[in-house]
Amino acid sequence: MNIFMVVLGACLGSFLNVCIYRLPKNVSIVQPSSFCPKCEKPLKWYDNVPIFGYLFLKGKCRFCKEKISPRYPIVELITAVLFLFLYIKFGLTLSFLKYAFLFCLCIVISFIDIKYFAIPVYLCFLGIAVAVVISLTRSVGLLKFDVDFTSLPIYYSIRGLIFGLGFTYLFKLFGDALLNIYLAIRKKESIEGETESLGLGDVDFMGMVGAFLGVKAVILVFFVAPFFGLIYAVGALIFKKTHLIPYLPYLSLATLVYFLWGNRILALIF
Ligand SMILES: [Zn+2]
Repeated sequence: MNIFMVVLGACLGSFLNVCIYRLPKNVSIVQPSSFCPKCEKPLKWYDNVPIFGYLFLKGKCRFCKEKISPRYPIVELITAVLFLFLYIKFGLTLSFLKYAFLFCLCIVISFIDIKYFAIPVYLCFLGIAVAVVISLTRSVGLLKFDVDFTSLPIYYSIRGLIFGLGFTYLFKLFGDALLNIYLAIRKKESIEGETESLGLGDVDFMGMVGAFLGVKAVILVFFVAPFFGLIYAVGALIFKKTHLIPYLPYLSLATLVYFLWGNRILALIF
């Protein structure tokens, strides 16, 4: 069964790759079947096998030898590990589905943000809608959740959503103001993307985290993510000299940290 979950995860990772590539371009994720972005030749089914297809082709297109992004096997591998982990933790339960959905969404959002420095906001809205529906069905008693930690009654879910959106939005306003004052003092023309401290995508994402995991998660994620971001930012400043950093991968990593150790970390602080 463990091996089956790994295979299932890798296959779903393959689908997530399609979403990452096509959603920002507004192309259907169902049709057509996978093709090489450069020569547009459709892939053979055996080249499409998760992880191994990439290894077998040595990272190059079969036809035009264009380099295939290592993002493909990486996403497949992450999703495979995620599925195995969630299965060991929850078994085949509703909690498994809930967190598989949340973290798959995190993967798609993170990798789109890495590529485009922006995300389609409807991805977060989709997450919020699913989180609210799960909580609602739980509160009404339609579904019975297995592990206490994962079941958030609707009141807590809505509270988390509002808090996530509000708290992050206030911080964004505050950060934007500081940034603009700084730019005014330095009399610097702002480079594109530099006038915003946090994007609206970040705000919506925090709303989603709140709806899924509650107020505590929002607070922890909000303060843990900058540490991940800082490590990258220092590196980026030294090597690439860019000010733009995709922030959603760090929010996603922080969400994972909360999921894994949240209660223990919060117990240490309070
Ligand atoms: Zn090609």
